[in-house]
Parts: sequence; structure tokens; C-alpha cells
Amino acid sequence: MNCQLCQENLDAYLGGGLPAGMMTQVESHLKTCDSCKRLSEIQLLANRVIRVEKETEVDPFLVTRVLANIERLDAAGFGNAPLGAGILRPALITLSLAAAVLFGIMLGNLSRPAGNAGKIPLELALINDASLESVDILSLE
Ligand SMILES: [Zn+2]
Repeated sequence: MNCQLCQENLDAYLGGGLPAGMMTQVESHLKTCDSCKRLSEIQLLANRVIRVEKETEVDPFLVTRVLANIERLDAAGFGNAPLGAGILRPALITLSLAAAVLFGIMLGNLSRPAGNAGKIPLELALINDASLESVDILSLE
């Protein structure tokens, strides 16, 4: 028997599900081959761990305890929003929007030249009232 055939039949050998002839062949190979013997030991250990895990009993009171704690937290009001949060959140949003608008206005004012704050704008100064014809002059003619 070679190593590949032995390793393919190792699971069935450990479970006792091999025909008698195969059983003795795998057994004799395991006595002579160290790597297959190590593999079978690992497989045996894994099977033992799986068996122990399957046998672990579920605590029947775990569900009861968890549900009782959840109900206790619900009764204590845990998870509900604090009283002020319903009012506080819209107020904070409104305040932040107002601050953003004010900041925009301030930013717009910064771009204006600061030198002629009190002066008449150039566009208005170009309009010369004196050159406009008065209605009185027209009526006299
Ligand atoms: Zn081998």
C-alpha cells in the first residue's frame, strides 16, 4: 500500500468502516510509515475534539436568562432616546444652517474692497444729475 491510498482510506479506517483486508493493509502501512502514522494521530485527535464538541450540552437556562435581561433593560428604558434629543437635534441642525449662512455672508463681505466703505460707488457717481434735462426747462420752452 502506498501513502496516497492509505491517506484516502484513513478516515474510513479510523471509523472502522473498511473491509477486513483493507483494514489490515492500512494498519500494516501505519506501522511502517511515520508520516501516515502522524496523520492518523492528528485525524484521531480531530475526531475526538469533534465528538466532545457535539456532546457539549446546551444550558437550558441561558435563553431564559438572556430574555430576562432584555426585558429588564426594556423596562428600565434603555435604548429609548433621551427626552431632549427629540428637540435638540432639529435645533442643532437649524443653528448649524444659520451659522453656515452667516459665514457665507461674512465671506462675501470680505471680498469687497475695504477702502471705499463710506464712499459712493463708482457706477452711481458716473450718473451726473446735472447733465440730465430738467422737466421744468422743457415746460418753459
Ligand atoms: Zn505512508
